[in-house]
Amino acid sequence: MNFTFDPVPQIIFETGAAARLGEIISPRMKRPFVVTDKGVVTAGLIEGALRSLEKSGLDYALFDGVEADPPARIVKGAVEAARRHKADGVIGFGGGSSMDTAKVIAVLINSTQSLEDIYGMDQVKSERAPLALLPTTAGTGSEVTNIAVITTEDDQKMGVVAPQLYADMAVLDSSLTLSMPRHVTGATGIDAMVHAIEAYTNIHRKNPLSDALAREALRLLSFNIVRACETPDDIAAREAMLLGAMVAGQAFANSPVGAVHGMAYPLGGLFHIPHGASNALMLEPVLRFNAPNADHQYAELADVVAPGAAGTNAQKCDAFIKRIVEIVAATGVERRLSQLGISHNDLPRMAEDALKAQRVLVNNPRTVTYDDALALYTEVL
Ligand SMILES: [Zn+2]
Repeated sequence: MNFTFDPVPQIIFETGAAARLGEIISPRMKRPFVVTDKGVVTAGLIEGALRSLEKSGLDYALFDGVEADPPARIVKGAVEAARRHKADGVIGFGGGSSMDTAKVIAVLINSTQSLEDIYGMDQVKSERAPLALLPTTAGTGSEVTNIAVITTEDDQKMGVVAPQLYADMAVLDSSLTLSMPRHVTGATGIDAMVHAIEAYTNIHRKNPLSDALAREALRLLSFNIVRACETPDDIAAREAMLLGAMVAGQAFANSPVGAVHGMAYPLGGLFHIPHGASNALMLEPVLRFNAPNADHQYAELADVVAPGAAGTNAQKCDAFIKRIVEIVAATGVERRLSQLGISHNDLPRMAEDALKAQRVLVNNPRTVTYDDALALYTEVL
């Protein structure tokens, strides 16, 4: 039962914490570089945090140029801006794209390596600057993972995976998630559920801690996602989702994701479909595809999402998939590629690109071939 498990050292889970961010981070940095996107600024989500930084006398610079599926050129520009500010720390404030960008900036700001040098596993050679992350969605779990996903100039999704990407602290303030529109709540919440499920079925790095976290995450998420979609200002549901997404993040940081993510990447890389929505689309076909090899794990997860499910492994596995599909449907997220403008002609290129995601496909309980990938996309066209 040998395993390793790496957590983020400090987690502050406190509704309202963003409004006292200055007090929280001032022992670690004096010239923070704050990384976010224009949507977060326009929605007024970051105002309280910025006021708090000022109140604590911190000389911050605000970078609000993050784009979804962060393109390499934007990340490089942000690193330059952070250097010009002489930042002594980085704050990522937003969804996965802002937090991933912040992680890479913190790694590169004092480094001689280029962004291209650090793609892949354990390529980061330098120490990183102090780093705090605040999620405004309940999905990616990026605040507690050692991964950043960047989109290259030729539309490939590249992972930077290294222990330096674990932040010094994650600050989770559920009030920041209250204004998420329904489709974002649904899609990001499903992404978090996928993190838990795929951590639980990883064939290499699944371990007792990641299993315990994955089960608890899936319990929190599956029992609260529809409530959070339907009653958006229900703070208890929002807290459960934010907690569940973070716990799922810890699980998959230590037992990485599989083919749902591998199949979802080309949807983001080629068509800019948001990460959560891409995962929601591919979840059902990949669960059915994996079932012959993962029925034991899916049967165990049936106890979490469909308590009372009884029978053989195969019956419980079916009950699990049925319940997950019901939840996805209840959130109202899109279920067909054609609804998002993807046509039959696009599928071969998507299947080719999906196979390039071996970093995650190797974790999947069943090998995915080109023909499999094509069949899985065809199923949800
Ligand atoms: Zn994900």
